[in-house]
Amino acid sequence: MKRGATPAEIEVVVSRIEQKGYIARPIPGGERVAICVLHNDGPVDASLFLQLPAVKEAITVTRPYKLVSRESQSWDTIIDVGGVRIGNAHLTIMAGPCAIESEIQALTIARMVHKSGAQIFRGGAFKPRTSPYAFQGLGEEGLKILAKVRQETGMPVVTEAIDHEVFDLVEQYADIVQIGARNMQNFSLLRRAGKSEKPVLLKRGMAATVDEWLMAAEYVMEGGNDKVILCERGVRTFAHHSRNTLDLSAVPVVKQESHLPVIVDPSHAAGFRDQVIPLSRAAVAVGCHGLMVEVHHDPETALSDGPQSLYPDQFADLYRQIEPIFRVYYTSTNGCRASDHRGAI
Ligand code: PEP
Ligand code: MN
Repeated sequence: MKRGATPAEIEVVVSRIEQKGYIARPIPGGERVAICVLHNDGPVDASLFLQLPAVKEAITVTRPYKLVSRESQSWDTIIDVGGVRIGNAHLTIMAGPCAIESEIQALTIARMVHKSGAQIFRGGAFKPRTSPYAFQGLGEEGLKILAKVRQETGMPVVTEAIDHEVFDLVEQYADIVQIGARNMQNFSLLRRAGKSEKPVLLKRGMAATVDEWLMAAEYVMEGGNDKVILCERGVRTFAHHSRNTLDLSAVPVVKQESHLPVIVDPSHAAGFRDQVIPLSRAAVAVGCHGLMVEVHHDPETALSDGPQSLYPDQFADLYRQIEPIFRVYYTSTNGCRASDHRGAI
């Protein structure tokens, strides 16, 4: 639409598109509104709406992930989570244990990571475990502990909804709802996330291509939730020196293909804590919008993912090491000056 198009003019275009049996989705931009045509089989005849008042142009979207694609939104999405921004020139650090184990455990770790620069606290209350005999998480009790952490530290919290059934409960407590790697193509969960008001952190499946990952994000956006954060967490390969292989090449590809923020989880990629700091440095250098890192004050006794959890002083060191890399990244790429953005480290 042209700059200054009125709501009435937008509505006329929307109803013209919908009369044809398609879905029209307005995407408000800084200066102009785009209207994305969804659910069309094959090309749409642009003469349908090109003559209508305030219509500027018709742009053909070539990608199958329409709403996720930069073709329908050229500018970067920035997601505000309780005052913490994710996307564009921000580097947002999420840290915490793999699982919430007790109030004292969560609060101890939260205080430590908050002091060292974490902006968002992570911790699973419902855990997707390979073995049914492994610790499955504290469930709602864990969510209540997360609410206490937020209240005490002011950090927003991210936690996983492992299935459609627990989504209602998780979204009541979480500031960001995580969809785990094993659930990246759980379509009923993606559809439920599409109905949520809460931002969704969508992890890449361990055997998913970038296209499949972006199509999974499209499910959430198509459902009406445009607050999607992508998270690269390593894919399964023949290597066994690490738990997974961190696919950093996905970061620039996703940034080119999509306007959505993309963060990196080096902990699940590595599986061993000694690899986490070097991989974090590399992730920041390659241009990710943030990191999600597992930290535990006593990893030897952790109920899940102890070997990949950083000690709190290692997390402080990680933060210290990535800060100059982030500044160099932005000044050398002219992407954006880090100092222009509040919340950026
Ligand atoms: C997690 O974040 O604790 C987790 C289970 O991650 P993933 O889904 O990437 O394995
Ligand atoms: Mn974990």
